[in-house]
Amino acid sequence: RSQKCTARKILLEFQEACDTPVARLRQVVDAMAVEMHAGLVSEGGSKLKMLPTFIDHLPDGNERGLFYAVDLGGTNFRVLRVQLGGLEGRVIKQEYEEVAIPPELMLGTSEELFDFIAKELVSFVAREGEDFRLHAGQGREIGFTFSFPVKQTDINAGSLLQWTKGFKVNDAIGQDVVAALQGCIERRGYKMRIAALVNDTVGTLAGGRYWNNDVMIAVILGTGTNACYVERAESISKWGGELPKSGQMVINMEWGNFWSSHLPRTYVDESLDNESLHPGEYGFEKMISGMYLGDCVRRVLVRMAQQAGIFGPHVPHKLLEPFSLQTPDMSKMHHDNSSDLKMVAEVLKRVYGIQNTTVGIRKIVLSVCDTVCQRGARLAAAGIVGILKKIGRDGSAANGLNRRNNTFEQSDVNGTHDEVPVNCPTGSGKTVVAMDGGLYEHYGEFRNYMQEAVVELLGEASKNVFIELSKDGSGIGAALLAASYAEYV
Ligand code: ADP
Ligand code: MG
Repeated sequence: RSQKCTARKILLEFQEACDTPVARLRQVVDAMAVEMHAGLVSEGGSKLKMLPTFIDHLPDGNERGLFYAVDLGGTNFRVLRVQLGGLEGRVIKQEYEEVAIPPELMLGTSEELFDFIAKELVSFVAREGEDFRLHAGQGREIGFTFSFPVKQTDINAGSLLQWTKGFKVNDAIGQDVVAALQGCIERRGYKMRIAALVNDTVGTLAGGRYWNNDVMIAVILGTGTNACYVERAESISKWGGELPKSGQMVINMEWGNFWSSHLPRTYVDESLDNESLHPGEYGFEKMISGMYLGDCVRRVLVRMAQQAGIFGPHVPHKLLEPFSLQTPDMSKMHHDNSSDLKMVAEVLKRVYGIQNTTVGIRKIVLSVCDTVCQRGARLAAAGIVGILKKIGRDGSAANGLNRRNNTFEQSDVNGTHDEVPVNCPTGSGKTVVAMDGGLYEHYGEFRNYMQEAVVELLGEASKNVFIELSKDGSGIGAALLAASYAEYV
């Protein structure tokens, strides 16, 4: 039928525009490495902000005591406490609670948002059980995971550069987010110290490193996407302060804002961006992350409904509503392997009231999901390989020197950080990427496409690169960093 024929044509055009053959991915890899370099050289040198985090040593297992974390950054807000028992005891006990952020707070005022966090935190603290214990003289210290771009001025201070994802709380921009939260906690009559302000990627890196010394990079693929990694301090030319003794610093890339002319941009990306809360910003995130993938699919379906009438003579009203197709539903359709694509039919019916689709039309819908997913996953893979390239761990370095320049040294028995030469070998030759986020965790096809692209790009060297799911690492990682940077030691 001509309907199906026109829809096929739309699909093919879209697939062509989204195509990411390995040659194109290599250009993205190179662009990522180049932009990383530019972002480290000067402030505003790249769309990649490459933010110094003030974290110059990561948890090593010696941390002890009771610590808290709060995690704000996506759809849910979390509070967590953990009792740490040093190298023998490790994580003795942990508890957390999760609440959805009331949507109006995502678009309200700074005071409302931070007071909501403070309220949830203090009510959680009030329910602290007897098996959690502070050391004598220890106060409650918090790691504050805040997953938006912040220009830090210290380990526990920094001003918000801009909102991303679904947040737009205008009066918070430029504010010190630590002071804002600290103030709200104090006004509620509690005394707690925010010891570390950390991005969720940084928390994930810390949480990963706590268990595995080969973790050098952390990536988030959830509502949004971002990455951080361990950089040589002397490569951060824009760093004005004293170089840390460890010779290293974690860099929060804010890779969601990465842009390159090599990215396969389509009409879908243009309209999505134009209608977004933050037009012109976070273009990489809009092609990759969970908040947007479903909406990319929806926009292609709108075109097919309008130009090919695949859902009947009228375009279903709800299909025109932004974000009406969420990524978990896209993923459900994508994983449908029944012969008549029952799940695709179920989602179309439940979400849009669309009935009586033919198997042929369902197949086309599934292909749209596949195309959007594949593009996002392969671009994410190229991003990771770009970081590996920047730190000399993509297998292209002539010798191992480069590769070895980049690990935090273990602290000595006194817990201080020695000035060991930075090219001291780590031994293993492995590089581990700690990964967190609901998109990566739950979307199997996304994971597969990503892994496949990493192998295509790295070849043999991919045998030394491990992407490991570090579930909820960011919460516990923030608590670990609170321990590392606590006032009381
Ligand atoms: P956040 O990024 O908000 O901190 P998560 O890491 O849990 O939280 O990621 C949640 C995101 O993961 C959701 O917004 C959604 O886009 C994506 N996601 C969750 N479940 C699935 C799924 N089954 N398939 C695909 N994506 C999913
Ligand atoms: Mg998260």
